[in-house]
Amino acid sequence: MKFSQRILGIKPSATLAVDAKAKELSAQGKNVISFGAGEPDFNSPAAAFEYAKIAMDKGYTHYTASSGMQELRQQICQYYKQRFGVEYKPNQVVVSNGAKPCIYEALAAIVDPGDEVILMAPTWVSYIEQIQLLDGQVKVVDTQDTDYVPVLDRIAQAINSKTTAILLNSPSNPTGVVLEEDLIKGIAELVIKNDLWLIWDEIYERLIYGQARHINPVQLIPELASRTIIINGVSKAYAMTGWRIGYSIAPPELAAKIGAFQSHLTSNPCSIAQWAALGVMRESEQDVIRMRDIFKDRRDLICGLLSEMPFISFPEPDGAFYVFPSIKECIGKSFQGQIITDDQVFCRLLLESEAVAVVPGSAFLAPGHVRLSYACSPDLIEEGMRRLKRFLEKLETSN
Ligand code: PMP
Ligand code: GLU
Repeated sequence: MKFSQRILGIKPSATLAVDAKAKELSAQGKNVISFGAGEPDFNSPAAAFEYAKIAMDKGYTHYTASSGMQELRQQICQYYKQRFGVEYKPNQVVVSNGAKPCIYEALAAIVDPGDEVILMAPTWVSYIEQIQLLDGQVKVVDTQDTDYVPVLDRIAQAINSKTTAILLNSPSNPTGVVLEEDLIKGIAELVIKNDLWLIWDEIYERLIYGQARHINPVQLIPELASRTIIINGVSKAYAMTGWRIGYSIAPPELAAKIGAFQSHLTSNPCSIAQWAALGVMRESEQDVIRMRDIFKDRRDLICGLLSEMPFISFPEPDGAFYVFPSIKECIGKSFQGQIITDDQVFCRLLLESEAVAVVPGSAFLAPGHVRLSYACSPDLIEEGMRRLKRFLEKLETSN
């Protein structure tokens, strides 16, 4: 049986795979604590259910416009105007089945085979696979030696005649780093000077803690509007991962192409879910703030507990709900006779011995690290950290 070259090269999403494994072990009766997939544990806001129920009662169960309902696209424009002072028109917005396909559709609209897209490493798993699925090339700019903060000169050096886009994610999955104004200005200059696209994934923009501030690049440099594709959605800020609503905002001509692509791929995202998204964007601002404050407490809790542990180090995250510690000091040590040769073995032994699920950093192009999502309750964080500490304390120097 023939499989395409394209599909033979694909790796399943490591974040979703860890989560699936944790769920499978739980179903077998194991008391697993998962710091795997990044998804809020809260219920969606009440407005999601109210609007979804109204939509069902009124029979809004037909196709909507393929790029999303006009009311929702208008609401998204209003959100960008209110939050960032940036003016968009509904014909620049394409609503999809989550933010993930928005990124793929955006990449498909600008990447030809052999084109390079610049990513910061550590980077989110799906960017890598999506670029490769389109026969594009991933060009990595490493940030592991600078506390995950990108260095402008390195980005400049990564640009060449094949570069099509720089893809940035702030706050970052998996590091929680929030990009600062000067760096964004520097990157904007590079984007404009080299005639590139900027794909700006700000799906965690509402989850910012302490002194950190989220900056939208188009608000900062209006000239970027004609070459920036914004990615956002309701999954993270409104705890709506299962409803599958995300969106892209692009210059009108590109948005039309993205919309055409979607019209052949999925048509519109679920009509009921679109109404739910409209409901929360209209009415659930207070829920967003409440959940953000809780995430901040959880960040403080997990960072405090992690900082007391041997053999791991990490910069404190300013946003999203991930911590990305280095476990390089654990490599070469042994656990009950088994040598930890890399981050994958670390994760496997931790899951087998203490039933704690974390994602190997190699999936994010940062071997020697692990990602913990702290979008779970304080009780689970405390118990999970007790187990992790116990695991680390059992590590022995191997001869
Ligand atoms: N971008 C980043 C950086 C993410 O972490 C995620 C999480 N899944 C997405 C996009 C996709 O979000 P969605 O669940 O809306 O597809
Ligand atoms: N984005 C989340 C994560 O990185 C959810 C899983 C996924 O979509 O990959 O864990």
